[in-house]
Amino acid sequence: MREFYADLHIHIGRTSTGKSVKITAARDLTFENIAKECAERKGIALAGIVDCGSPAVIEDIDALVASGEMVELPGGGLRYRETTTVLLGCELETVEEDGAASHHVSYFPTREQLKVFVGFLRRLVTNLDLSSQRCRVPARQLLRMARTAGGVFMPAHAFTPHKSPYGRCVSRLGEMFGEDGLDRLAAVELGLSADSYLADRIAELAPLTLLSNSDAHSLPKIAREYNVLWLEEATMAEVLLALQRSGGRKVVANYGLDPRLGKYHRTFCLDCEEIAPVEPPALSCPRCGGTHIVKGVLDRIAEIADYPEPRPPQHRPPYHYQVPLQFLPGVGAVTLGKLLNRFGTEMRVLHEASPDDLRLVVGTKLAELIIEAREGTLPLLAGGGGRYGKAVSDASDTQVSMGW
Ligand SMILES: [Zn+2]
Ligand SMILES: [Zn+2]
Repeated sequence: MREFYADLHIHIGRTSTGKSVKITAARDLTFENIAKECAERKGIALAGIVDCGSPAVIEDIDALVASGEMVELPGGGLRYRETTTVLLGCELETVEEDGAASHHVSYFPTREQLKVFVGFLRRLVTNLDLSSQRCRVPARQLLRMARTAGGVFMPAHAFTPHKSPYGRCVSRLGEMFGEDGLDRLAAVELGLSADSYLADRIAELAPLTLLSNSDAHSLPKIAREYNVLWLEEATMAEVLLALQRSGGRKVVANYGLDPRLGKYHRTFCLDCEEIAPVEPPALSCPRCGGTHIVKGVLDRIAEIADYPEPRPPQHRPPYHYQVPLQFLPGVGAVTLGKLLNRFGTEMRVLHEASPDDLRLVVGTKLAELIIEAREGTLPLLAGGGGRYGKAVSDASDTQVSMGW
């Protein structure tokens, strides 16, 4: 077995014919371009594309298989040019009885199973062609539908203040899925403002596998967070074994932004337009006393936590902080091109390039910055209220804007 890099939450902007899928996402973010970017530049072996429920996207997928550009694997997933396997995913918004909304991703091994699921959605979703649409059922019912169609189900960005189970709906997933429903979840996705250290302050998450994915809305943002999986081969069946920690397969590491860089990390007052500068949980604005706030992920976790400190279960892999390359000052298209020329993919730059080799390609200063970024040692300012945090670089004396 060996390591595979996996980013299992990537959006589609447009179909190959230019039809909108996610309106706010980039135009060049098509199904095929995602596979190509993951294969050629990112070094991502497993890409979960979460807008595959759109009938217009399914036409694209069918055409790619018909032309031989992609091959459906016996173990589930579609292989692109020997290097990247795409998992067919579908992110949807569900709504609980009290009106609270949250996002969830379902993945399907085959196109046939995906199409069965889409058939279930037809009467429940108003515009199926668009991304992350509201499905007019509670989350536990969507979970049942996904499993009936042969898929698996995962709460997405579980803690964000907008449209997430812990952020918006419940303080325990057990309330949402039933106590015995938790073992039917394939995994729980952390989201950009959380990490496993924060999640492990909640007791019910101990048996679950945690994933860190990019939720990318453009090609460069793919793999800003990702997972390292220990598998026999890159197929959906192997991924599922890893999520269940079965047969030696497992998630061996999560890589992501320091949660302080996430745009919803701390509580933000919409009137004062400031991040609460107090110990979490900030449940109102410490300045004006008001509750016209966007509650931070850290503040929400502090509010509902079972433990004041993380209690990671034995199986929990390390979560490594990393700042993606293209958000470093001085790493523009030209420098990135040089790095990819020399090392092949971004994953190789981040995981394999030696400091000496980096120095030869981009010079001492930039090499140091890249090493700090991949080791997670850049100094940071916290984000909140929809504004990303910032990395403050000593080496270049500039602030790295995370405004992607
Ligand atoms: Zn979402
Ligand atoms: Zn998403």
